[in-house]
Amino acid sequence: MNAHSSSKKTVNTGRRHVLGALGASIVAGGASSAVAQSLGFPAPPAGLGKRPYPNLLRPLNDGPRKFGYAIVGLGKYAVNQILPAFAECEYAKVTALVSGDIEKARRLGKHYGIEESHLYTYDTFDKIAQDPEVDAVYIILPNSLHADFTERSFRAGKHVLCEKPMAVTVEECQRMINAGKKAGKKLMIGYRCHFDPVTHKAIELARTSIGKPQIISTDNGDNTDPTDPTYQWRLTRALSGGGALMDLGIYGVNGSRYMLDEDPIEVQATIMPPSDPMFREIDETIVWIMRYRSGAVAHGSASFNVNAMSRFNLQGTEASLRMDPATSYWCNSVSHCTSGDTQTWSTPMFTIPALNQFSAQLDHLAISVANNTPLAATGEEGMQDVRLIQAMYQSANSGSRPVSTDWGDWRKTI
Ligand code: NAD
Repeated sequence: MNAHSSSKKTVNTGRRHVLGALGASIVAGGASSAVAQSLGFPAPPAGLGKRPYPNLLRPLNDGPRKFGYAIVGLGKYAVNQILPAFAECEYAKVTALVSGDIEKARRLGKHYGIEESHLYTYDTFDKIAQDPEVDAVYIILPNSLHADFTERSFRAGKHVLCEKPMAVTVEECQRMINAGKKAGKKLMIGYRCHFDPVTHKAIELARTSIGKPQIISTDNGDNTDPTDPTYQWRLTRALSGGGALMDLGIYGVNGSRYMLDEDPIEVQATIMPPSDPMFREIDETIVWIMRYRSGAVAHGSASFNVNAMSRFNLQGTEASLRMDPATSYWCNSVSHCTSGDTQTWSTPMFTIPALNQFSAQLDHLAISVANNTPLAATGEEGMQDVRLIQAMYQSANSGSRPVSTDWGDWRKTI
């Protein structure tokens, strides 16, 4: 194997720091045609990992009209990542905004060319049913509001893309799935890493060139600024449903399942005592173990009180994979390592062309609706993560006792 050295830059993957990187990339036209290429027009460039869902890459057969999204919740993620990402969408556009602050919606509406008649408050949201420009609602609100807005969106006859974590309880997740089925509309969860080419490369390597997967470790964390509103609801259980595990550890939970292609049959977790009263309602730092029927084991951590960390390691019988960062917005990296030989693939500037995960995710729902092809991240998948997270909290709250998660194959229930 050739050794590629990725002349590692110091990249801070924390929420606050990645925002600037996105802005720069959009202004510079950073990902440009990579999104179209990633969707299969033309053939993906050499070096781009095989996508796990190749049948989702078919072109739209829907004509030139773009798929319209209403964005609900105009906070940091919506404003700094999602709205700018529409510039690189092939099939999707933003056609409506929903906010508690109508002046903010007006300012953003002006910037994105959205007229007053397509601006809504949370109170007037249900009128979106009569808005022909809106095909789907993208819910980017605090976690405990996901379920209600998903149900309202389905009642309005729209498809739904809902941010992770899908909801704060399994019951809410089930309600959301049922509502989508009743409406005959699609429900997708915002697992953007499913659209990251480095993640796809890692999956390909995990399947083909590490031998039998044995141990996976995942660590995700960030510092907390209690004066920033985006952290305040995360510290409030009624709005967040939990702390570091719900917000950041979920990447490790979903990522472990995705990389091992298997669901754990038992989990165990420990929540560390809070170091500051601001963490009294939620888990500041949590560590866990997930055991798999194959014999593989995953161990993970998540923290609201560490400098930005986003790291996956997968150890197989013949080689290991290292991802650091693993789940950042723009600059992920995967190394395939055997004793004495390391090969690295990374974005945006090295061996894999930059890909705007956000635009690819927005286009993906459009394609799935137009062609009636399967979604990469369904409600059922989101519910499985919430169910595992709840089992981890159950373990942590009962002296770290093992909790069985041997619930059968959730895919068979779809
Ligand atoms: P944020 O606090 O920056 O934005 C939340 C928005 O919801 C704000 O505009 C706020 O005004 C509004 N809101 C409505 N009702 C509210 C209430 N009762 N309390 C507080 N705010 C209320 O948060 P964010 O970082 O944009 O996160 C929003 C969602 O997006 C969360 O579910 C989060 O997990 C998810 N998220 C996903 C990613 C990702 O990479 N997929 C990244 C960041 C956030």
